Amino acid sequence: MSSSGFASQNGAGGSYTNGPSQNPVGVYPSAQGLMAPPLPGYMNSLPTKGPPPTGPGFSSRNQPSPVAPPASPGLRAPPQASSTPPPISSYSQHPPQPSGWSGVTSAPLAPPAAPGLRAPPQASATPPPISSYSQHPPPPSGWSGVTSAPPTAPGLGAPPQASATPPPINSYSQHPPPPSGWSGVTSAPVAPPAAPGLRAPPVGNHVSGGTSTPPVFQNTMQPPAALQHAALYPAPPPQMTRPMGSSYPSLQPAYHSPPAPPQLHPQPVSQLSPSLAALSLQSQPPEALRVVNLLQERRLLPPGPVTPPTPCLPQDLQKLNCCPEVFRCTLTSIPQTQALLNKAKLPLGLLLHPFKDLSQLPVVTSSNIVRCRSCRTYINPFVTFVDARRWKCNLCHRVNDVPEEFMYNPVSRSYGAPHKRPEVQNATIEFIAPSEYMLRPPQPAVYLFVLDVSHNAVETGYLEVVCQSLLDNLDSLPGDTRTKIGFITFDSTIHFYNLQEGLSQPQMLIVSDIDDVFIPTPDSLLVNLSECKELVQDLLASLPQMFSRTMETQSGLGPALQAAFKLLSPTGGRMSVFQTQLPTVGIGALRPREEPSQKPSQKAAPKEVQHLNPATDFYKKLALDCSGHHVAVDLFLLSAQYCDLSSLGCISRYSAGSVYYYPSYHKQHSPAQTERFQKDLKRYLTRKIGFEAVMRIRCTKGLSIHTFHGNFFVRSTDLLSLANVNPDAGFAVQMSIEENLLDLQMVSFQAALLYTSSKGERRIRVHTLCLPVVNSLTDIFAGADVQAITALLASMAVDRCVSASLGDARDALINAAIDTLASYRASVLSIQQPGLLAPACLRLFPLYILALLKHKAFRTSAGSRLDERLFCMCQLKSQPLLYLMLMIHPSLYRVDDLSDEGALNISERTIPQPRALQLSVEQLSRDGAFLMDCGTVLYLWVGRSCSPVFLTQVLGVESYTALPLLMNQLPELDTAESSRLRALIDWLRERRPFHPVLHVIRDESPLKAELLQNLIEDLSESALSYYEFLLHLQQQICK
Ligand SMILES: [Zn+2]
Repeated sequence: MSSSGFASQNGAGGSYTNGPSQNPVGVYPSAQGLMAPPLPGYMNSLPTKGPPPTGPGFSSRNQPSPVAPPASPGLRAPPQASSTPPPISSYSQHPPQPSGWSGVTSAPLAPPAAPGLRAPPQASATPPPISSYSQHPPPPSGWSGVTSAPPTAPGLGAPPQASATPPPINSYSQHPPPPSGWSGVTSAPVAPPAAPGLRAPPVGNHVSGGTSTPPVFQNTMQPPAALQHAALYPAPPPQMTRPMGSSYPSLQPAYHSPPAPPQLHPQPVSQLSPSLAALSLQSQPPEALRVVNLLQERRLLPPGPVTPPTPCLPQDLQKLNCCPEVFRCTLTSIPQTQALLNKAKLPLGLLLHPFKDLSQLPVVTSSNIVRCRSCRTYINPFVTFVDARRWKCNLCHRVNDVPEEFMYNPVSRSYGAPHKRPEVQNATIEFIAPSEYMLRPPQPAVYLFVLDVSHNAVETGYLEVVCQSLLDNLDSLPGDTRTKIGFITFDSTIHFYNLQEGLSQPQMLIVSDIDDVFIPTPDSLLVNLSECKELVQDLLASLPQMFSRTMETQSGLGPALQAAFKLLSPTGGRMSVFQTQLPTVGIGALRPREEPSQKPSQKAAPKEVQHLNPATDFYKKLALDCSGHHVAVDLFLLSAQYCDLSSLGCISRYSAGSVYYYPSYHKQHSPAQTERFQKDLKRYLTRKIGFEAVMRIRCTKGLSIHTFHGNFFVRSTDLLSLANVNPDAGFAVQMSIEENLLDLQMVSFQAALLYTSSKGERRIRVHTLCLPVVNSLTDIFAGADVQAITALLASMAVDRCVSASLGDARDALINAAIDTLASYRASVLSIQQPGLLAPACLRLFPLYILALLKHKAFRTSAGSRLDERLFCMCQLKSQPLLYLMLMIHPSLYRVDDLSDEGALNISERTIPQPRALQLSVEQLSRDGAFLMDCGTVLYLWVGRSCSPVFLTQVLGVESYTALPLLMNQLPELDTAESSRLRALIDWLRERRPFHPVLHVIRDESPLKAELLQNLIEDLSESALSYYEFLLHLQQQICK
């Protein structure tokens, strides 16, 4: 058995899943990882509530972790304690504070408490409901491909008739007719719970509307007419034959049985855990547990995409569950105890894509957002209605009153059925927040561009692309009439641009004292876009020429960032920084740290990589100041030279920004990168954006969140500060089980993202995920989500690289595979058999682990560039799972024989769906052509003996030798073969927010080596083949 897992170094006992955290939350920004242990000087300035994150501090699970408790009023608080409305919790305001970072955790900014915390006025006898409910149409921006499928919101499918005649006070409108499911996976039967009679509630119990609770209703403000209305609503009695998706069968019983039921949901256990039932009662195990001997089974990939497991929940709850593309757990069956989790040796954590573009999103406007009085959870599909007037929180179990206005359902226009409100029918929903969720008026959209104009920058030609792209998309920047924009350029000095209305042309103001930067005319540098558009356009048109002859080679990035921060700090906003070299002057200047000698030598046993940690804390400190003032910094790095991304990346990481990297960018020399940069910029400029955002993740009492992964600043134990939130950002969290979940059949997780839209609305997007609790290892394994597990381990390994070493991280990854399979063999398998055995649901686990070991972030082969490695690490921590998996394990398809068989038909396009192949050179044949999709890049490899039909009909060349060594476009030929392949490539590209470039290559192409490196099942210079890796695992397990 293996020894060092992810936690072992920290002394946490056997498993990495176990324990508090390497990065105690809520305390330091530095805690989250990627960039390493906080620098001492910096740490000291942080007010903390817990022990420093460094050091061997893994307290054991049972000790009350000093880190855990405070901060978040609310989280797992005992019932009363937190029910008092946190006073000024605010979200606050811009602290009037100056820069000192200490400001961030201290009072004003602090706890955020997010708006959310303010207890909204207790509802009961409040004014009549004024709620409107609408379903927004797909976001405009270009990229809606991924979600494009069918629409959303499970449960919404319901009420068609509702919108016919708008009710007097409430309005409900549904723009696009809701098709079927939301997204691939949960989608299925969104619609009406087909099963009106499926789980009929106990007959005698069912009463329609609320007639059984007379006393309560009599005092309400609603006239009896409302009751009658409710009664008119179809199918009064027992069988729940409501026509539309009335869906809530599972809650009905509870709803009608007065005393609080002992169980969360009154289903028989057997319904809860089919896998358990199947296992114990039948001889045939579910597919997930089919025993696979990895040494024998070579064809592991499913024909289509790898899909996440479906949690074993009652069908009606499952239908309402959150879409796995948005919210997913590594284990779809949650172990009852930490001991059980430790035994499984699988990591427990969540993966989120909270601001994902959705083709449809239910939006509710309500004067009173219903939340648990104790833990502030938003009412959601997984609460229980104890009776007509009370609901029980699924996170803390407190029983809350149903506010009067919630009794009215704007969707069905009925009264007395709160469980049919959209809030209780949709696991993903957005609220337009009332005024108590803001302490200052929502900020306008503010965009500041900070552009490197040194000689090196101008030489790459990037400036033309940025300016042109901005000119093209100026009208598509998200915002309203308040939108502001500004520009700063810099080399060894800083240049501001006065764009004040009334000027005949933009005025350039140069500040050459970069040691003490001041802002020349603060009021005219960030200007109203609609009022000053012409000046902005003038500037963009002339900017590329203004510096075309510059000989200035120095780069004062640090001072330019300081200036930009000063400019944005009064409002908050987005800073877009374009940098093409290592900063050389002023504060934040860096020195090259990548030396040839640091490239790992071939024979040194523990191959190590130095300088994964930032060289200075300047960028991180500034990022924290930015975060405190709602400024996010996005970094575009375009450089062939070492730029020290580990230092520069901090500016985006802690301010919730994004990092883009274009190595060797040059407008002439690398047309493919230019194409990618242009497409990425378009997406970047026009995608949705949320300002002054915070995200809080709550979970059922007993579970505890301890480490976060992604770009943000952790403000308190469960609250992430996101100066900006964008639809392409993913997050992960690790969890532990602090109290046994013995009495629970299911647990829930809720992520609430509060943000200001570009139109100045305060909005809250809430996602709720519900999962069953199980008490056997077999069930835990049956519910393992191998992709989510891999992604979470990847994030953990990045942290490990930085806090310990690359070698250590690699060992931990390998040990994760060994420990898991060993646990499976020892505890789940009833019949011992030879071979390396895995349950079918984890059959890809060793392959994915090997893929990680060969990934640019973790590989040890010679010649890996430091910045490239760092960038890959950034991506592992911030990409949504969907895209991340392609970057870890590319998809390979044979494409010279595409057919329409099994093709998708999307808006009159036919998209072939070739089978995914194992990543081995064995799969490539000389007489074929193969497409490898690596997420950010596509390779089309053409074999030497490829059929002439493919060469002429698709590539437009007469022979193999006529094929150029590098080609980035497919000719648009009017042939069936050509349209099929182009349809496939277009479709792959549309499904992601970044633009993968296409490289058409043949054997002689220089890029062929990159293609081969991605064939991860093969032996490479420094790494085992898949088969050897399996043998290694087997050896370790049987030791
Ligand atoms: Zn609660």
